[in-house]
Amino acid sequence: MKHLSFKLKTTILITALITAVCAVSIAALTAAGLSVADSETQQTLIKTVERNVDEIEYKNGILEVESDFSFYTNGVYCDVYNENFEYIDGETPHTLIQTSDFENGNIRKHTIDGKEYYIYDSKLEFLKHEYEIDVFSGQIISYESDSAAAQEIKSAEYSVISFAGGINTEQAIEIALEHAGASRENVEILTAEIPSYSDRQVFKIEFSSSEQLAESVWIRGIVPVSAASGAYSTLTKAALYVIPAFIIISAIGAYVISKRTIRPIEKITKSAQEISSGSDLTKRIELSTGKDEIYTLAETFNEMFERLQTSFESEKQFTSDASHELRTPLAVIKAECDFALSDMANAEDKEEALVSVSEQTEKMTRLVNALLSLTRTEQGTQRFNFEDADLSTLVEEICSDYKTDKGIKINADIQSGISMNMDVSLISRLLENLLSNAVRYGRENGYINVSLSKKENNIILSVKDNGIGIKEEDLQKIWGRFYRTDSSRSNSEGFGLGLALVERIAALHAGKCGVKSVYGEGSEFEIVF
Ligand code: ADP
Repeated sequence: MKHLSFKLKTTILITALITAVCAVSIAALTAAGLSVADSETQQTLIKTVERNVDEIEYKNGILEVESDFSFYTNGVYCDVYNENFEYIDGETPHTLIQTSDFENGNIRKHTIDGKEYYIYDSKLEFLKHEYEIDVFSGQIISYESDSAAAQEIKSAEYSVISFAGGINTEQAIEIALEHAGASRENVEILTAEIPSYSDRQVFKIEFSSSEQLAESVWIRGIVPVSAASGAYSTLTKAALYVIPAFIIISAIGAYVISKRTIRPIEKITKSAQEISSGSDLTKRIELSTGKDEIYTLAETFNEMFERLQTSFESEKQFTSDASHELRTPLAVIKAECDFALSDMANAEDKEEALVSVSEQTEKMTRLVNALLSLTRTEQGTQRFNFEDADLSTLVEEICSDYKTDKGIKINADIQSGISMNMDVSLISRLLENLLSNAVRYGRENGYINVSLSKKENNIILSVKDNGIGIKEEDLQKIWGRFYRTDSSRSNSEGFGLGLALVERIAALHAGKCGVKSVYGEGSEFEIVF
């Protein structure tokens, strides 16, 4: 996986994800569907059997299965069995007829010929009996026995009616009970009346008996377990064909998506490679139109190239400036040496040449030292020695010890007790550079005002002179390495490195440099720590 391309990795991951989601969804749906279907099958079985309960009764002693009895409905077969579990009636295929293990009101699974079936039995107990008895002759006209639910058995109050030349209610009850073979103490009289609908005058006697007066009957329902799951198994089979098709489609889709996603990044890579392999650092990555993450990436790259270009060019400039500055004294040394060694030079000329060589060597030493200091502070190769030190005392000491020329006076206005975490030698260097500039570009008998103060959290060091000043257009440039204004070029002492070092030292102490100047009147350099 590690060595695969982004496109391939994304394709594999997206495809795997879609496949997993698909498989889990189908499995969960099938499981849920199967469980619902299974419980529906069981409910249908129970309902079908219970609905048939009312369709069986004894009429005048003969067991009758009414025409509304459903032998086969909703995939459920219903059969009637007698008390001894002998098959009586039904349409169930022979192979499914099972005559063992009857359990009233209990649904269970049964395997027949390797196939699973749900079986449900309902036992019909004929506890309710109804008799119609002629009021005059006491003859039984008809009688029936029903299976009754407990709530239907409610004993009733009845009034005794007598017929002249016939029988009374009590006698009618006796006739019915005797015929049914029931004893009075085991029965509840539910109805004892003369119904108005009768075209013949009869007693209608209904009673329930706790004794078994008629043989009980079983209804057995049977349904295949797979009845409802059939549709789902078809669905599962269909899913087996659909899933591979789905995987192929999602793999193609994922590949197209990842290819489209990676295209702008490939473009950026190509441009970056062109820039890094070629020498043209001015080239930039073409930005896309939408401001999306890719746009930001390209923009970040371009900013990086911009900074690289600037730093590369300034390095180039620095090297060329440094070699230029070194070339002049070297050329002078070479010329002086050649002359001193020639036959034309007398002893005095040779001495003069040596003095000149010594001056140029000193100049080169100063330049190399300045370059070294700057490079060390910039690259962090110099070891800094930061400590909490008294800045007020340091500034005061430097100002009083500093030797000026041209009759220039240094005035120090220093707030006492200001201390700071600093590298004392670097801060001394910073102040000495500012003072040497103020003297170098100062006026005869001029002044330098040095002030140190603390305002809120800021420490402000200012060096102000009344020297030659700096032109407006040079104010920003003077901080650059080797930059010297036109008016100072005649002064051979400087190299244009002093202020660059000042700025770098200030930055190391979280300080900011600023300059204000009026050309011809003087300048003020301010460092805020
Ligand atoms: P340099 O060694 O030439 O003094 P710096 O980096 O110290 O180099 O200064 C850069 C340039 O800024 C100088 O060449 C000079 O033109 C100008 N400059 C610096 N300090 C002053 C000042 N106090 N007054 C006028 N010009 C200044």
